[in-house]
Amino acid sequence: MCMQLRRACQCGRQSAALNCRDNLLPAEILVSLYCPACRDLADGSPECRVEDCGWILEYDLDGAQIIMAQKGIRQEVTAAFIFDEGYLSWQGLAPGDHQVNHEIHERLAPLIAKDMKQYLEQLKTEWLAHVTRLKAQGWRKAQQA
Ligand SMILES: [Zn+2]
Repeated sequence: MCMQLRRACQCGRQSAALNCRDNLLPAEILVSLYCPACRDLADGSPECRVEDCGWILEYDLDGAQIIMAQKGIRQEVTAAFIFDEGYLSWQGLAPGDHQVNHEIHERLAPLIAKDMKQYLEQLKTEWLAHVTRLKAQGWRKAQQA
């Protein structure tokens, strides 16, 4: 099970839904989140960061290493490892993904009563188009999708 949480960026203009794989890392391990508008405020060391399409996620790597070692994860913990393995990264493929998913479902909802098969096909088509867009924009998690 994945715990879901929301975090505002440092300037507070944007927020992202986050996901903690296996509930292993507490949300505090993500020390700071910066959107493209406030990324210049990031002052932690570069090793602690992951960048994704202008966003910066800054982790407490020492804290993460201790927790992961306690859980039997022996490999070196890097920011990329935390992000790419989904231990503390976007819920979905990019911040705002959840919202897009919700919008597509809302928009297509009238189809449910009319034509369930078409609804499901349309849902799939629109979501795949969204993923293709994210991939083209260079979102990190979308590259493996
Ligand atoms: Zn911001």
